[in-house]
Amino acid sequence: MKPAIEIDNIDKFYGDFHVLKGVSLTVAAGEKVVVCGPSGSGKSTLIRCINRLEDHQAGRIVVNGVELGDDLRNLDAVRRDAGMVFQHFNLFPHLTVLENCVLPQILSRRTPRAEAEAAAETFLKRVRILDQAPKFPGQLSGGQKQRVAIARALCMRPRIMLFDEPTSALDPEMIREVLDVMVELADDGMTMVVVTHEMGFARKVADRVVYMEAGGIVETAAPDQFFDAPEDERTRRFLSSIR
Ligand code: ADP
Ligand code: MG
Repeated sequence: MKPAIEIDNIDKFYGDFHVLKGVSLTVAAGEKVVVCGPSGSGKSTLIRCINRLEDHQAGRIVVNGVELGDDLRNLDAVRRDAGMVFQHFNLFPHLTVLENCVLPQILSRRTPRAEAEAAAETFLKRVRILDQAPKFPGQLSGGQKQRVAIARALCMRPRIMLFDEPTSALDPEMIREVLDVMVELADDGMTMVVVTHEMGFARKVADRVVYMEAGGIVETAAPDQFFDAPEDERTRRFLSSIR
């Protein structure tokens, strides 16, 4: 079977700054990969490249068989195929919870409104927040906002879900409710790339854990090996700094 994501030796620059240096990573369909590493190591940049929120300057990225290049005609389809959940939710503040989930479907998929509303209700129910549908994001807790953001992404029927530190802006008591929804998504077979330092989540859900430092992948291993017997000195130092 073709991989869901193929990243082959990519380089990315912000101006003169070489942010990703020859990064390669292949993610199989249904696989769950957790990415960790210190702040500034390039984790967000890497996953933003997967749905072309950032472009890369060398190497190849192929997502569900579509190569992300300069002549990308079907950017909308690439973004729909790889849903993204951000640290700071990025909900539309002037739209209700329901409309946050409905409008992107109408604009990007041309889904008829009735169908879009039905899908929104299905996914809001799935993240256990349908009762908040008429409210605005400003009226919700952080954990509720993040669950709405997950429902909104799922409404686009993505084949891949990308999470960029989805719980790091949340109060501790709200982290669990978001992680529980992510675990359920993983159990349903979703392909997931998750930037997080929630190591309990990584142990439970990840097929592989990737450690990044200074724009490169230092070590990739199954969770047991990664946490109990990391090979690289830099990985060991990082793990002891967060434990
Ligand atoms: P991480 O998510 O691991 O904290 P990022 O991918 O956000 O790392 O950032 C990696 C490096 O690239 C950092 O040094 C950051 O300051 C820099 N960077 C991130 N975004 C931009 C940008 N839009 N323009 C210039 N530099 C950036
Ligand atoms: Mg980041």
